[in-house]
Amino acid sequence: MSVTAQTVWNNCLLFIKDNIQPQAYKTWFEPIVAVKLADNALSIQVPSKFFYEWLEEHYVKLLKVSLTKELGETAKLVYIIKMENTYGNKQPFTEKIPSSNRSAVRSQNVDVPLNNKNRELRNPFIIPGIRNVKIESQLNPNYNFDNFLEGDSNRLARSAGLAVSAKPGGTSFNPLLIFGGVGLGKTHLAHAIGVDIKDKYPEKTVLYISAEKFTQQYIDSVKKNNRNDFIHFYQLIDVLVIDDVQFLSGKSGTQDVFFHIFNHLHQNGKQVILTSDKAPVDMQDIEQRLLSRFKWGLSAELQTPDFETRVSILKNKLYRDGVEMPDDIIEYVAKNIKSNIRELEGAIISLIAQSSFNKKEINIELAKQVVEKFVKNTKREVSIDYIQKIVSDYFQMDVDTLQSKTRKRHIVQARQLAMFFAKKLTKASLASIGSQIGKRDHATVLHACKTVDNLSSTDKQFKKYVEDLTKKLSV
Ligand code: ADP
Ligand code: MG
Repeated sequence: MSVTAQTVWNNCLLFIKDNIQPQAYKTWFEPIVAVKLADNALSIQVPSKFFYEWLEEHYVKLLKVSLTKELGETAKLVYIIKMENTYGNKQPFTEKIPSSNRSAVRSQNVDVPLNNKNRELRNPFIIPGIRNVKIESQLNPNYNFDNFLEGDSNRLARSAGLAVSAKPGGTSFNPLLIFGGVGLGKTHLAHAIGVDIKDKYPEKTVLYISAEKFTQQYIDSVKKNNRNDFIHFYQLIDVLVIDDVQFLSGKSGTQDVFFHIFNHLHQNGKQVILTSDKAPVDMQDIEQRLLSRFKWGLSAELQTPDFETRVSILKNKLYRDGVEMPDDIIEYVAKNIKSNIRELEGAIISLIAQSSFNKKEINIELAKQVVEKFVKNTKREVSIDYIQKIVSDYFQMDVDTLQSKTRKRHIVQARQLAMFFAKKLTKASLASIGSQIGKRDHATVLHACKTVDNLSSTDKQFKKYVEDLTKKLSV
């Protein structure tokens, strides 16, 4: 890479950074690599076609202004789209099977085995008449795009979802993986995409299924000796939505069967939409080959919504339910429940219920009581397992090490911190904490709590551990 391209781009970045939100900058500009500068044209490398389209749609003006500042009126920008994980040296993301071909595949009811491009192969396991079986989509019409409010936290995922539903199987986001924490809208968005596709393409077979149910069906099919029917059924779907794929972790049989179904659908230009509570890099016990498939398309995160978005979600919900509520109450709730939209809605519903049952007026006092309950509930949700996981991740050890009998100082400290936080954040007794963290007795836990208290007021480094972990553990 020439120095000049880099310098020009760095200057552009400085300008861009000043003009957009930090999150947007991080998402859209940090991943860009300046490649070359020739004939007053700056070539930048972007990670995907989607990325390029997004930049063109949202930031082209900004890019133009910044580049013109650097290179003058004749400045040009060239995008180089870098495809990662290309499959068989092709670019499956941009490749589209012609529709004539695709319908041929379906009407002949043939199965295309893995990596076999010969579409004439007959599937020996055709279920007679399956083509006439109407597949119920299992979609919830109440989860649609109209009531999935947009905000910074979900803009990428939402737009990607809209792009997918406009052209299922025809965009580079295949699979589309929506990931994010509990109650942030993954299921809602996944349904919304399906509902919108059904709306636009009524002839398409759309199926929503939770990974859990998928797993059960698979296990049943093995028991009943019709695994192939199971696979075949799924291979008939045009748009497959699988919710909570993290559920597949550790289930190698189901992963294997899903891998085959996925490949078949993908090769035939069908759309796959997945949701998960983790980013692909953080998924554990999912086979590498499956993970690499997840990364083929787009992984879009649902982040925790900012205050404005929370307020508009609440207002929208109240409006749809025909309930009026003073703004200061709405804002109070939105200010205090931050990390989970389901709880946000729950608090408002409970507030409405409380006021109508007890014929109480909805005022700040009542709102405080309700919110407090919700916030407490959230805290109680932290489990001792979770605490041990977070603490051991933080110290880059595994949970087994944390629980081990060793007296190595840093491990002892990690264990004591886990006990301290278990005491602080859960309602578990000292004895129960001890038995869950490496089978210790209650006196050890008590000692650990005291030690942590002492050390955090005398040892700076230790204090930092406590602060960092407090942040990580606060939901
Ligand atoms: P997840 O599957 O991520 O746990 P859900 O999709 O079940 O979360 O969402 C939890 C609740 O929050 C649902 O009632 C959903 O309708 C609501 N919700 C989530 N995101 C939004 C949004 N952007 N706009 C409106 N409601 C939302
Ligand atoms: Mg869900």
